[in-house]
Amino acid sequence: MTLGFFDPIAETLERLQLRELQLRRVQELLAEILPRNGFYAKKLGGHRVKTWDDFQELPFTTKSEIAEDQEENPPYGTILTYPLERYTRFHQTSGTTGKAPIRVLDTEESWEWWARCWGHVYRGAGVGPGDRVFFAFSFGPFIGFWAAYEGARTVGAMTLPGGGMQTEQRLKFMLDNNATVLCCTPTYALRLAELAEQAGVDLSGSAIRATIHAGEPGASVPGVRARIEQAFGARCHDHTGMTELGATGFTCQEQAGPHLIETEFVFEVIDPSTLKPVPRGAQGELVATNLGRASMPLIRYRTGDLVQLDETPCRCGRTFARLIGGILGRADDMVVVRGMNVFPSAIEGVLREFPEVSEFRIEVFSKRSMVELNVLLDPRPGSEDDLAMRVSNRLNDRLLLRVPCELVPPGSLPRFDLKAQRLVHRDD
Ligand SMILES: [Zn+2]
Repeated sequence: MTLGFFDPIAETLERLQLRELQLRRVQELLAEILPRNGFYAKKLGGHRVKTWDDFQELPFTTKSEIAEDQEENPPYGTILTYPLERYTRFHQTSGTTGKAPIRVLDTEESWEWWARCWGHVYRGAGVGPGDRVFFAFSFGPFIGFWAAYEGARTVGAMTLPGGGMQTEQRLKFMLDNNATVLCCTPTYALRLAELAEQAGVDLSGSAIRATIHAGEPGASVPGVRARIEQAFGARCHDHTGMTELGATGFTCQEQAGPHLIETEFVFEVIDPSTLKPVPRGAQGELVATNLGRASMPLIRYRTGDLVQLDETPCRCGRTFARLIGGILGRADDMVVVRGMNVFPSAIEGVLREFPEVSEFRIEVFSKRSMVELNVLLDPRPGSEDDLAMRVSNRLNDRLLLRVPCELVPPGSLPRFDLKAQRLVHRDD
């Protein structure tokens, strides 16, 4: 195994060869699923894919379509390609406010596929035999780090499960077992760091040398990444993926934005309003087709994630395209304030430059029918009183937007283990 690569040939294919490989795999996928998969047989009807132009004629798939299909044909819908007895793993999406989760099943083959995709993530982070990967995560039906847990064996690393523990116990468990890699949300890494500091433990002197994050965009936000790297004395890595889609991306040692696993997916970037491809390198919504999960496939699936794609080769040698700045935000998280598009992740990036800010909340409300923002800062004990003003000034400098900030008593805002909800819509 070449250092840093999971599959050296695949990861360095010329882009033209990569596109040929993808097209062939799309054709194989359609040949496999169309005779068996009710959902796609109905949706794709007589479509045939001989060229990329044909592929772009295929209709998009949305999350709500799958949810409706599962509601009409409970519990799993008509999207399973094979008889139910072929499936061995169950997961469901975390389910956003007001929406039912989507139930997702895997077969032995597709679970192996997930594990291989995670092989890319681990090798990108330089993880291999001798590493002990600690999961600071409560394992439940949400896929979270289940696939990561499974995938660690593809690179020969040991796994340390951290479910059913309080944060204090997790910290001790991680240190007692000399964990070398930490997997959790960026928020939870900061929570562990906060607790360690209170307990007088210097995490930068621990065996942790890499952290891998998912579930939130934080690890690609420079301010958040710097804070995690400083607290743990470790390299901070981002990972992108979705329960219904698979593990889509990983960062390499260059930290030049997550690479997309293009041998296992076809990615497109579209303008969410016109549904047309954006010009090369422009921002838009990520659309993905998984190539290795015929058992519950997704074709041209609209992720709702806003991204900017760079197809130039990376300094690491991989030709897989990269997401510049990671996931920039959710299309539906964007707030328009005085004509400017604002993403909560951009605000977080600035806030994390202030070590005095332990936690925060972004409030959105309307004032005289204008959308306004307000940021609540939960400071570390003993912070200076002018913190709110300094943060507000820096937000103004960086985002060119006046955002009032106010301090709340230390420890008064909620802490999160998973999928932090820091954006709150307030009714005034
Ligand atoms: Zn790279």
